[in-house]
Amino acid sequence: MSRSELETPHITKAHSLVFEAPVTPVTSTTTQTWPVEDVLALFDLPFNELIFRAQQAHRAHFDPTEVELATLLSIKTGGCEEDCGYCPQAARYDTGVVAKKLLSTEEVLEAARAARDSGATRFCMGAAWREPKDRDMEKIEEMVSKVKALGLETCATLGMLKNDQAQRLKNAGLDYYNHNLDTAPEFYNNVISTRQYSDRLDTLGRVREAGLKVCCGGIVGMGESRGQRAGLIVQLANLNPYPESVPINHLVQVEGTPLHGLAPLDPLEFVRTIAVARVTMPKARVRLSAGRRQMGDAVQAMCFLAGANSIFYGDKLLTTGNPDAVDDRALLAKLGLHAREVA
Ligand code: SF4
Repeated sequence: MSRSELETPHITKAHSLVFEAPVTPVTSTTTQTWPVEDVLALFDLPFNELIFRAQQAHRAHFDPTEVELATLLSIKTGGCEEDCGYCPQAARYDTGVVAKKLLSTEEVLEAARAARDSGATRFCMGAAWREPKDRDMEKIEEMVSKVKALGLETCATLGMLKNDQAQRLKNAGLDYYNHNLDTAPEFYNNVISTRQYSDRLDTLGRVREAGLKVCCGGIVGMGESRGQRAGLIVQLANLNPYPESVPINHLVQVEGTPLHGLAPLDPLEFVRTIAVARVTMPKARVRLSAGRRQMGDAVQAMCFLAGANSIFYGDKLLTTGNPDAVDDRALLAKLGLHAREVA
C-alpha cells in the first residue's frame, strides 16, 4: 500500500472510486427533449429502479456525497399583490404574516455574513413583489454587489423582470435568478390567476438573455396529479438549456391560504419527483427546498439518495419554518455527506 493510500481516509477513497466509475452511461443531455410520456414512464418505474437511474445520473456529474448549502433571506416580506394559492405573503390571505419594508443593505449584509460563517456558499435574496419597481433597483444592485464581495454566490427572487432589470442585476454581480414555474401549465390556473404561465417563461427568457444562471423549479403536493407533476418536470427539463438549479418544494400548508387543508402528498411520491428531476436534468443542482421540516430525516435521506444535492440552510425559508442549521449539520454528518465548498 502506498503512502498516499495510507494517508487517504477510507471513506474519501471509496467515494472517489464510485464517483469516477459510473455503472452505466446516462443518456440525458442538455439538448434532450423529454416527451411527457417518457417522464411519466420514469415516475411509473418500480421505486428501486427509479432510484437506481437517479443514482447513475447523479454520480455521472457530481460527487454524490456533496451537498450545496444555500441560505434564503426575505429582504421584503408580505403585502404581495399576487394571489399564489400556496403563499402566506399574499396580502389577500389572512395568514398572520406582517408586511415589512425592504431591508437595508446593512441588514442584508449582516445576514449574509452569518450565512457564510455558518457554511453557506450561496445567498438568495427574496422579495414578495409581483415585479421590482425601478425605484428599488439601485438598492437591490447595491445588496447584490456587496453580498458578492463577501465571497458568496448570489441569487435573487424578485418576481417578473423587465429586460433592463435582468441586465442590471447581471452587471451588479448576480449569479442566479430564481423564478419558479410552480406547476404544470395545465394545473397552473388552479393555483394562480394574477399572472400567466407565459409571463413566467418570458421572465426566464430575459434572465437567460442577460447571461444569468437560472434557478427554476416548482412545488408539489398542491393537489396536482402524477401526470401534472410529470408536466412540470417536462417544462423544466425542456427549457434549453435546462436550469442550473432546480428547487423542488413540498407544499407547506399555511392556514389562511387557499391550499391549506389538502390531503398531504405521499412522501414516496415526493422522493420520486426528486429522482425524476435528477434523471431528466442530470447536471442541475436539484434542491430539496420547502417542506423539509415536515419530512424528517428518513425522507430527506431518501431525497439525497434520489439525487438531491442542495438544500436551503438556515432556520427560516422566507416566512415558513426550516430545520435548524445545527440539525442539518447533524443529518449531513449522520449520512456521511459534506457541504460543497466554493473554490
Ligand atoms: S409567491 Fe411571490 S408572487 Fe406569489 S404571492 Fe407569494 S410573494 Fe407574491
